[in-house]
Amino acid sequence: MPTALITGITGQDGLYLAELLLEKGYAVHGVIRGQNNPKRELVERLLPDVHLHNGDLTDMSSLLRALRDSDPDEVYNLGAVSFVAYSWENAHLTTDVTAKGVLTMLEAVRLHTGDDPGRVRFYQASSSEMFGKVQETPQHERTLLWPRSPYGVSKVFGHYMTINYRESYGMHASSGILFNHESPRRGPEFVTRKISRAVARISLGLQDELVMGNLDAERDWGFAGDYVEAMWLMLQQPQGDDFVIATGQTHSIRDFLDLAFGHVGIADWTPYVRQDPQFMRPAEVDRLVGDASKAREVLGWKPRVSFPELVALMVDADLEATQQGW
Ligand code: GDP
Repeated sequence: MPTALITGITGQDGLYLAELLLEKGYAVHGVIRGQNNPKRELVERLLPDVHLHNGDLTDMSSLLRALRDSDPDEVYNLGAVSFVAYSWENAHLTTDVTAKGVLTMLEAVRLHTGDDPGRVRFYQASSSEMFGKVQETPQHERTLLWPRSPYGVSKVFGHYMTINYRESYGMHASSGILFNHESPRRGPEFVTRKISRAVARISLGLQDELVMGNLDAERDWGFAGDYVEAMWLMLQQPQGDDFVIATGQTHSIRDFLDLAFGHVGIADWTPYVRQDPQFMRPAEVDRLVGDASKAREVLGWKPRVSFPELVALMVDADLEATQQGW
């Protein structure tokens, strides 16, 4: 039975990935941060078979302990301070966790594996935010990186450090450059979930206004459940490598609003939506669209859930959650 260790197991991707690996027969271990972490209960309830280890990406000895106690074949480093808007207010913390945390985990894996660096396969959760002020469209693995936020800069550091450990030490280390991927498990601070929750509440008469930032930004949005499969596929290859994971289609925030409100029968959302500068960012990533042809050819990966299906499933999940009082 193969064994996997996941950092960031309490997040959207960590939960989907843990489910996928359990289905495949893996023993799944997760690193969980902080005393009395409120998300521990969520993981224990949803995934009772996962073994949890206390640890923190800023604390090397805790990671070494988690590696020793789980003895994994595969490590998925998904842990990060991941909300772009927050990263300007907490640039140092974001750098410590999202950038230096990758180095700490890589170094812990290197020390743990000793003379046999390929013994543990390593996945780094890189991000389309690294493309930032895009230098070409669509973006692929060799597109020049131009991050636009402390979060994006931190992800660039982690991406290159992963490549560097692969090249310096012969580690089986892969970097997945995942474009935005969403689901009902997305945190409500992200724009898709913010909209799906508000639309559900508006249609049920519990809310009458949605306050937004820039409606013209465009993203290449996929379904998180599809994207974790790509992570696993990367670690099944003979060698570590870098892959863009994306749908290849881009949509604006307005498109998302159209579909989400349309799904509950509201054709004109303008009376419900107000823009407020508090949700505008000091620098914006205007338009992301990924070219995942390498993943399609090498990994045989392609997204299954379309953009309209994604919006519908998120709104439906929030309708149900709101009605049930979850
Ligand atoms: P990101 O791509 O990781 O930054 O994902 P987000 O979901 O946080 O933001 C996606 C885009 O939506 C960005 O360009 C934001 O500026 C834009 N946006 C517009 N209004 C909002 C809002 O109210 N909240 C968030 N989070 N993003 C918004």
